[in-house]
Amino acid sequence: MEKNYPDAQAPPSYNTTQPGYPNLNQQQPLIVAQPQFIQAPPNVLGNVPSMATCPSCGARKQTKIEFEPSTKTHLIALLICLIGGICCCCIPYCTDSCQSAKHTCSSCGAYVGTFKN
Ligand SMILES: [Zn+2]
Repeated sequence: MEKNYPDAQAPPSYNTTQPGYPNLNQQQPLIVAQPQFIQAPPNVLGNVPSMATCPSCGARKQTKIEFEPSTKTHLIALLICLIGGICCCCIPYCTDSCQSAKHTCSSCGAYVGTFKN
C-alpha cells in the first residue's frame, strides 16, 4: 500500500513587524464606498393618471388608468336597487367615482396599483 503524500509547500513566512517602527496602520478600518440608492418617492395614486414608478420596468411615468367596479360599486348598486329600483342600479357602474381606478404602466402595461374611491 503506497501512500501519496501531497507535496505540501509551506508559504514562506514574512516578518511584517519591523523593529523600531510601530505598526500604526494595524487597526485602520477599511472604508468601502457604498452605492447610494436614491429612494423613489412613493407612488401616490389617485383617480386620475398619476406619476408612479413601475414595479416591472422601473420607469417613472404617468400611469394609464381604467375604472373597474369594486366591492363598493356592487354595494352601492345593490343599495340603489333596493331603494330606487333595478333601473337605477347601473348608475354606479357608469360613475368613475364609484369605481376603483386601476393604474397600469404606460411603457410596459404592468399593473402598478389601484386607487379605491
Ligand atoms: Zn413598466
